[in-house]
Amino acid sequence: MGKKGKVGKDRKDKFYKLAKETGFRSRAAFKLIQLNRKFGFLQQSQVCIDLCAAPGGWMQVAKQNMPVSSIVIGVDLFPIRQIPGCIGLIEDITTDKCKQSLTKELQSWKADVVLHDGAPNVGRNWIFDAYQQICLTLNSLKLATCFLKKGGWFVTKVFRSKDYNALLWVLKQLFKKIHATKPSASRKESAEIFVVCQGYLAPDRIDPRFLDSKYVFEELDLDGKKNVSLLHPEKQKRVKAEGYSEKEFAMRNELPVVAFMESANGLNALQGVSKIIVDDEAVLNHKRTTPEILECCKDIKVLGRKDIKGLLLWWKHIKEELFKTDEEKEELGEVEEEAPKKPLTQDEVEEMEFEELEKQINDLQDEESRDLKRKKKKTLKAKAKLNEKMNLNMVIKGDEGPKEEETDIFDLRDVKTVQAMEELQDVSPDFVAEESDDEVKEKIPKFKK
Ligand code: SAM
Repeated sequence: MGKKGKVGKDRKDKFYKLAKETGFRSRAAFKLIQLNRKFGFLQQSQVCIDLCAAPGGWMQVAKQNMPVSSIVIGVDLFPIRQIPGCIGLIEDITTDKCKQSLTKELQSWKADVVLHDGAPNVGRNWIFDAYQQICLTLNSLKLATCFLKKGGWFVTKVFRSKDYNALLWVLKQLFKKIHATKPSASRKESAEIFVVCQGYLAPDRIDPRFLDSKYVFEELDLDGKKNVSLLHPEKQKRVKAEGYSEKEFAMRNELPVVAFMESANGLNALQGVSKIIVDDEAVLNHKRTTPEILECCKDIKVLGRKDIKGLLLWWKHIKEELFKTDEEKEELGEVEEEAPKKPLTQDEVEEMEFEELEKQINDLQDEESRDLKRKKKKTLKAKAKLNEKMNLNMVIKGDEGPKEEETDIFDLRDVKTVQAMEELQDVSPDFVAEESDDEVKEKIPKFKK
């Protein structure tokens, strides 16, 4: 990811913005936050290895969620800017040197959790990238088997490609439980999913072929002749002879075309399917069964939205002409209305995400104003209660309180004679400042005549 700055700048989605606002170095950080919220693998962990960690978003999240004394070691081809309490290593995770550097850092320590969010740095084409990514994942698993403690966690990103099921099979041999999940911070249209492997079994010995991509995955033939390794035909044979490749093959869910056509919902029928076996003459000879459709049927997992839409249209037409029962006619009418819906563009998806965020903000504001109203009402009620109490204790019912005198206000103009003035002056004081001095008997005139 180190060199993908421009792409990053263009992606102004809500998690990108959130990452900017919260100080996380990548939007990917939210994926780990959501995964950890669901499975809670960080809270109790003392040692975490983060493979393919640059720029360090996952490392930040790991450090924040692990105990203070914990340690996080991040590895990437690119340097990772210092994160307090973390160690960054510049290594290629597919090399022995990387294993040595990790051993040097960890010494006798074992990791509670190994994370992997690796993706190939140079995009070539989707199939090639997916293959590179799944090989990276197998490499990260290999490292995990060297450093994980028994019962530990392995959390990895995987691109759902044709080799996905083979990887799952290997993971299932090494961990107690495997959870495949897609956090909402991961774009819906991206093929990535996250596999959370719980409870490392730490077997005494692992067959090295389990961790060798040449054995586990179908080798990629970039000329489009899949499943045939021209360079190493003997390896293909050996894999089958050893047995577990057959299991892997069995797990590649294959759907006979008749079952696909007879299904009530084409999209649902494709869930979890890797391949449609087009073995029905009528379907094969139908004009809508183009070479392109047949190519798509070979590898459902690597198809984009456009291809899936093409397959669904094919399903709809073939079903209608060859497989539709009378009862289904009405149902299909509904499907027909749905089918022309255009697949969402990137902008539309982002707009929907923004709308969702805006809705959340509005909901929050509504909640806040409701809260404010509730508080105001509560305060007014308390005030009324207080008034009532004060009235009860201090104000006697019927007493209207002190009133301004209207008639007896003193006015000097009312003093008309000297005598009246003397009488006015000759009043005792309200209080005496000092005891009267007995010696001062004589009355001091109060005013000069
Ligand atoms: N989890 C990271 C975060 O939150 O910041 C983002 C990881 S980014 C999606 C994928 C990373 O994989 C890139 O930084 C890339 O350099 C790294 N990578 C790809 N191949 C690698 C390899 N062979 N060894 C080490 N890192 C690799």
